[in-house]
Amino acid sequence: MEQRTELIKTVDLHKSFGKLQVLKGVSETIHSGEVVSVIGPSGGGKSTFLRCLNLLETPEQGQIFFEGVEITGKKVDIDRHRQKMGMVFQHFNVFPHLSVKRNITLAPTLVKGMSAEDADKKAMELLERVGLADKAEVMPGKLSGGQKQRLAIVRALAMEPDVMLFDEPTSALDPEMVGEVLEVIKGLVETGMTSVIVTHEMGFAREVSDRVLFMAEGIIMESGEPEELFNHPKNPRLQDFLAKVL
Ligand code: ADP
Ligand code: MG
Repeated sequence: MEQRTELIKTVDLHKSFGKLQVLKGVSETIHSGEVVSVIGPSGGGKSTFLRCLNLLETPEQGQIFFEGVEITGKKVDIDRHRQKMGMVFQHFNVFPHLSVKRNITLAPTLVKGMSAEDADKKAMELLERVGLADKAEVMPGKLSGGQKQRLAIVRALAMEPDVMLFDEPTSALDPEMVGEVLEVIKGLVETGMTSVIVTHEMGFAREVSDRVLFMAEGIIMESGEPEELFNHPKNPRLQDFLAKVL
């Protein structure tokens, strides 16, 4: 059997906002090369869970290990680890005042010290890959939502992350643009990129995932391979959810 390396591991994560308990003990392991989709009702804690993985939110209890290092531990240089986790949000937050290409080269040059020439070359390769090479010099304001999201994805990839975290990457898009973004993500996961994808696109989750997590009320209520989870849901809460969305 192929060796499975634990890339991200959470142990009993708890997170509250004021009195609202949002994560109530989430223990989960994402292995290298794994593609994991997270589905579940709105307000169930999916975004909070994802944001905890790179400590955009700080859990008040529990541990997170990334590449074997406890990043919830003291004295951790979180920026160093965060560089290895690419994140794509629902509202493609690209930098509006920078050209498409500069959006991509900024972090590699500033954070990684890559030369402008190398960063440019890499940016053009990435833009080529997602069909945006001809937009390199334009400002993001000139792009469609689907193009902005493709830019956000390759901007994250420019840092050569070890995992990509997607939080509903297509939810803010007009329907006709959903497909082009899902295609890019699909192409990426086919290269073996470890990915955690919060999504409402059930067909997509079913197609690309190695595993699907059903998250509701702050816990992972069910986890399984897509065929099993979608065809034979065990948890009544999941059965109810699927009946509504499928
Ligand atoms: P999901 O992504 O599954 O829809 P979220 O993780 O976004 O769920 O939210 C879970 C709950 O936590 C919701 O009730 C939401 O309103 C609340 N919440 C999320 N982020 C914050 C925040 N920064 N401050 C206060 N409440 C929050
Ligand atoms: Mg969310």
